[in-house]
Amino acid sequence: AKKAGGESSFQFFSQAIQSRLQESVDIEHQLRRGMAAQRMRLLYQPQFRFSDRKIVGAEALLRLELDDGSLLGPDKFIPVAEKTGLIIELGQWVLQTACTQIKAWSCPTMSALSVAVNISPRQLKVANFLDDLERRLELSEIDPKRLELELTEANFIDTGGESIALLNAITQLGLHIAIDDFGTGYSSLRYLKHLPVQQLKIDKSFVCGAGNQVADPVIVRAIITMAHSLGLEVVAEGVETVEQFEFLRALGCDYGQGFLIGRPMSAEALFEAVRESLPVL
Ligand code: C2E
Ligand code: MG
Ligand code: MG
Ligand code: MG
Repeated sequence: AKKAGGESSFQFFSQAIQSRLQESVDIEHQLRRGMAAQRMRLLYQPQFRFSDRKIVGAEALLRLELDDGSLLGPDKFIPVAEKTGLIIELGQWVLQTACTQIKAWSCPTMSALSVAVNISPRQLKVANFLDDLERRLELSEIDPKRLELELTEANFIDTGGESIALLNAITQLGLHIAIDDFGTGYSSLRYLKHLPVQQLKIDKSFVCGAGNQVADPVIVRAIITMAHSLGLEVVAEGVETVEQFEFLRALGCDYGQGFLIGRPMSAEALFEAVRESLPVL
């Protein structure tokens, strides 16, 4: 009986691997079809300033619209896109769509808003990333200050001076750079001090959790204090409750985003939210 059990658990294991592989092949197929059929969507989640509770920006978040009209989230398809290299084309589409949207938001209601775009490590490694970025900014005729790039700590491992030079060049174009999911990666204080970045985004796992309070107040407080000592601004992700909002505000957190103020929404919905200066509490 023992032997049979071992066999079946091995079989179960290999079936699990098999179905994971199949799922990733399915997603790759859906992604390729979605890209070809222009079914990629960019949603915008409002970012607010704690001091006056105004919406001052948005983070662009990618979705794939499926045949039934439902939206597939990036956690499902970004890893597949990274593995297959599709992320390069996808990333260019995101950058262009964000630039076009920023240009469309030249009206008084929206012209002060900045838009943050997530950049994958693989995108940064493409030789012409900087030239491509510069060309898109020029052709879109937007103020580079209105575009922000979000990079994760994974971008800075083992790259030494090379990535710092690239980030410096990006900053010289006028863009701001934020370190995303801060606190979850291999943060080295040495690189933080020397990187040309303007913002740290506290990962949402430290902010929201099971209860209404901030999930990890000690870490949140430490990140805010450290960031401010280094002259960096802090953005809190995952602000879901009034209690979390008040805690972060009392600590002097600069900006926030989260379901409390708004979920990722269409460009039109964000325009309405800003125009009506919707709640923001
Ligand atoms: P991220 O950059 O850390 O984005 C924040 C994620 O937190 C978003 O998930 C957002 O919907 C979610 N979120 C915002 N507020 C709250 C909240 O109050 N509570 C909770 N529980 N979650 C909140 P989303 O849209 O599913 O994106 C997941 C990740 O996918 C992003 O994490 C980012 O790493 C990646 N991603 C999204 N769009 C792109 C893209 O265009 N390019 C690349 N390379 N990655 C992207
Ligand atoms: Mg911002
Ligand atoms: Mg992000
Ligand atoms: Mg994040």
